[in-house]
Amino acid sequence: MNEMFLLKLGEIVLKGANRYNFENRLKSNIRRRLAAYGKFKVYLTQSTVYVEPLEDTCDVDGAWDACGAIFGVVSVCRCRPCEKDLDAIFAAVQSYLGDDLAMGTSFKVESKRSDKRFPLNSIQISQHIGGLIAEAYPNLKVDVHHPAYTVYVEVRDHAAYVHGPATPGAGGLPTGVGGKAALLLSGGIDSPVAGYMIGKRGAELECIHFFSYPYTSELAKQKVLELARLMTRYMGRMTVDIVGFTEIQEAIRDNCPEEYFTLIMRRFMMRISERIARDHGAEALVTGESLGQVASQTMQAMAVTAHVVDMPIFQPLIGMDKEEVVKIARKIGTLETSILPYEDCCTVFTPKHPKTKPSLKAVEEAEAPLDVEGLIERALQNVEKVQVKYED
Ligand code: ATP
Ligand code: MG
Repeated sequence: MNEMFLLKLGEIVLKGANRYNFENRLKSNIRRRLAAYGKFKVYLTQSTVYVEPLEDTCDVDGAWDACGAIFGVVSVCRCRPCEKDLDAIFAAVQSYLGDDLAMGTSFKVESKRSDKRFPLNSIQISQHIGGLIAEAYPNLKVDVHHPAYTVYVEVRDHAAYVHGPATPGAGGLPTGVGGKAALLLSGGIDSPVAGYMIGKRGAELECIHFFSYPYTSELAKQKVLELARLMTRYMGRMTVDIVGFTEIQEAIRDNCPEEYFTLIMRRFMMRISERIARDHGAEALVTGESLGQVASQTMQAMAVTAHVVDMPIFQPLIGMDKEEVVKIARKIGTLETSILPYEDCCTVFTPKHPKTKPSLKAVEEAEAPLDVEGLIERALQNVEKVQVKYED
C-alpha cells in the first residue's frame, strides 16, 4: 500500500464522554460514504482517522474527493506510510514528494512524534530529514519561516507517514450527532445553504418541498431534486417529501385578502412541515430567511409565520448578506443549479403590496374563511417521497 489518507478531527476531540459516540458515528459515516469507491480500511487512533485503500481497483481520487466533504474532519491529507526508520522515511519523502520538492525554491520539515518510543524527538527528526533533503536537492534553501514547501513527517503508533501540506476538511460535527431536522427546500439560492449550515453542525436532514403543479413545472421539481442530490455530497442520503400545494394556494387566492397571500401560504408550509418532520423523527425545521430580504422576512412576518408551529425553527442565514450566501452556495456547488430560471410556488400569486408588518390578529382573520385542517389533511395525503443519494 503506497498511499493513504489521514483525516484529522476537529471539535469532536473536545467532547469528553461523548467522544466515543462521535468517533463511532464519524467512522461509520466515512465507511458509508466511501463504499462507492471500493474497499477501504477505516480506523481511528490519536484523533486521526486513517483511510487505507485495500485493493488496486479502489477509486482513490473519488474517495479523496468524498473525504473533503465529510463533516467532523478539520483537515485531510494524502500521505505515504513507511517504516519507522529514518532511511525509510527519507526514501518515502524522495519517492512521494520529490516532484513537489524539485519544483520549489525553499523548504522546511515539520515533524510530529506521537510514538514516544521512537529514539529521536520531533526537532531531531526534522533536522535529520531536512539535512538529507538539502543534500539531495542542492538548489533548495532551508527556510523555516516562509518555506515554499513544507514536508511533514509523523511518527505514529503503526507506522511513519510523510506528506505535503494538508487541505482544509469540511469542518463541523459528524452527521447524525446533532439529531435530525427537516429542511424546507425551495429552488432558490438560500435554502440549500441553510441546510448545509445546519448539516455542518451534525444534524441529519430530510427535505420538504412544496410544489404547485401546473403553476410550477416538472422542471422546477427536477431542479429541487437536483439541489437535494448535490447537498448529499455533505449530508449523505436524504428523503425529499414533495407536497402538492396547488389546492391550498388556490384556496388562499380565492378566499383571502391579497396582501396576506404570502403569509398565509407560509403558515401552511410551516404547519405541514412540522407534521412531516415529526413523522421522520425530526425535531426542528430549517428555513433560509435573511432578515429584511423580502416582505415575508421582517420580524413581524416571521413571528406570524412561526406562530403556527411548536418546534424550533432554525434560520442560519438570518444575519447574512446575499453575497455571503452566494459565496457558500458556490463553494458547496449548489449555486449553478439554484440560478436556473424556474418558478417557485412562492412566486405564484405574489401580492402586489404584501403586508410587511402584519399583526397576528389580522392574519388569523384573513385566514378564517379557510378549512385549515381539511386542507392540511389533503395535502398530507398528496406527498411524493423521493430518496436522493450522491451517486444517482
Ligand atoms: P430561497 O432562496 O431558499 O428560495 P428566498 O429568499 O427565495 O429563499 P422565500 O421564498 O421567502 O425566500 O422563502 C423563505 C424560505 O421558505 C426558503 O428559504 C425555504 O426554506 C422556504 N421555502 C420557500 N418556498 C418553498 C417551497 N416551495 N418549498 C419548500 N420550502 C420553501
Ligand atoms: Mg424562494
